Amino acid sequence: MQDAVNRLVQLLGGWDVFVKPGENIVIKPNLLMRKSPDEAVTTHPAVIEAAARSIIEAGGRAVLADSPGGPLNARILQWVYKGCGLTEAAARSGVILNFNTVETTVKVPAGGILAGITVLEEIAQANGVVSISKLKTHGLTRMTGAVKNLFGVIPGLKKMEYHFRMPGVEEFSAMLVDVARTVSPRLHIIDAVVGMEGEGPSGGEPVHIGLLLAGACPFTLDLVAAALVGIRPEDVPTIAVSIKRGYISGDIKKVRLLGDAVSLPRLRFRVPPKAIDFDLLKANSRGNLPGWLISGLNRRLRPHPVFDRDTCISCGECARICPAGAISIDKKFPVPDLDRCIRCFCCQELCPQRAVKINRPWLGRVLFK
Ligand code: SF4
Ligand code: SF4
Repeated sequence: MQDAVNRLVQLLGGWDVFVKPGENIVIKPNLLMRKSPDEAVTTHPAVIEAAARSIIEAGGRAVLADSPGGPLNARILQWVYKGCGLTEAAARSGVILNFNTVETTVKVPAGGILAGITVLEEIAQANGVVSISKLKTHGLTRMTGAVKNLFGVIPGLKKMEYHFRMPGVEEFSAMLVDVARTVSPRLHIIDAVVGMEGEGPSGGEPVHIGLLLAGACPFTLDLVAAALVGIRPEDVPTIAVSIKRGYISGDIKKVRLLGDAVSLPRLRFRVPPKAIDFDLLKANSRGNLPGWLISGLNRRLRPHPVFDRDTCISCGECARICPAGAISIDKKFPVPDLDRCIRCFCCQELCPQRAVKINRPWLGRVLFK
């Protein structure tokens, strides 16, 4: 892995381009939740370890920082690091695991939808950030790679606030693009050695791809990653925002590929259908339609979470993290209020048992293709 990571970065000019002696470099992995590396939910520790060694060799101080889904404190970080194989990777490579959960607000560059975002202090104070994401499908944004990975700089349950403030997939994706521009990592690496298809980002199936991707522009890198797994750029809302804002052209033919990916393999991942932004509750703001009809149509048209009682262990995590407070626990089992649900799919993303599935009614799929 060390050779592969160094060869990859060498194609972009070498580690010296991204790290200067004495600098504090934060590695931002995808640590969505405590999962064993072979489940392909989180960035593989071997990639992180290799990058950390190279950063240290280039004279930098390597720190690993992320905020997994759900609440954030030092005990949870310790538990996630251990489960994701990072405690050992840190001991071997010398990367420092971050336990600082203090948050701070930073300004978003002009041209976005937000003025400022709340991030981990460790990220704000770094001299530079190296993002190492995992290539997976995603129930809300269809794909998670370089751009979506950076949502993890927002600390703990603050992420749920962002979901609640920006429930529509378009505005949520515009916010993700703002976060990527604000954090502005010097280097983005995507761990696509084993990706995830199907019900990603945590409930899908691992797929061996055998590639590492890297670049300085997260939007271009995601464009390439989408082409690799067979998703049209306009179907990934964060890529669509970056094209609309003129950050990239969206034309893969204009991207200069180097290394083994010069002839990019074209896979066909199973990808969740598009999220549907249409909300009848909002559309009926004048109250012309009766509540029972709105509620019934919302259920029949919009995707929504369903909870499998056979696999649920009644841990209550989904109810704790639901940004809309739409999940109550009845006789130990979660029950969603679909009129309050904002369709963020955080419950599916963060259920440790994969007990939450997204039901996508066929009528909604036909009407909102
Ligand atoms: S659905 Fe998942 S997160 Fe929710 S209570 Fe059951 S096991 Fe826990
Ligand atoms: S029930 Fe699930 S999908 Fe709905 S708002 Fe809560 S976490 Fe999001």
